[in-house]
Amino acid sequence: MSKETEPLNETVNLTCLACGQVNRAPKGKLVAGPKCAKCSASLAGGDVAALDMRLHDKATATDGVPLIIDYWAPWCGPCRTMAPEFAKAAVALRGTARFAKIDTEQFPQVSQRLNIRGIPLLILYAGGREVSRLTGARPASDIAGFVRQNL
Ligand SMILES: [Zn+2]
Repeated sequence: MSKETEPLNETVNLTCLACGQVNRAPKGKLVAGPKCAKCSASLAGGDVAALDMRLHDKATATDGVPLIIDYWAPWCGPCRTMAPEFAKAAVALRGTARFAKIDTEQFPQVSQRLNIRGIPLLILYAGGREVSRLTGARPASDIAGFVRQNL
């Protein structure tokens, strides 16, 4: 939700969640679907990007657009249950926040560093820092509400 007082040409940093290139995109036009200058991937397409450690660290530290990350693992039943709900929320909040996920089995160091004790866990980042956490499997409406109330 952009405020009327914000100039439309204000730009934000957006890490391409496919290749890691940092792009500058006009803040008021994220729904228009800016593309990465390097690899042409959509920067705000409303999908859930699968991250590795490099992309995770870069995007959480760099992005000007709120980023919510699902910390999950393939063996976790509730994680698999929540995945389609998380994808629904990603579409609902397209242009407001970006959605991504990281496999904590494949990248266990992320759990250690962030002191993650249980999954699924959602962490919302904004302005290069952690804003809030939401634990447990949630429906899409809860996930969207969690993002909105923390922005
Ligand atoms: Zn790219």
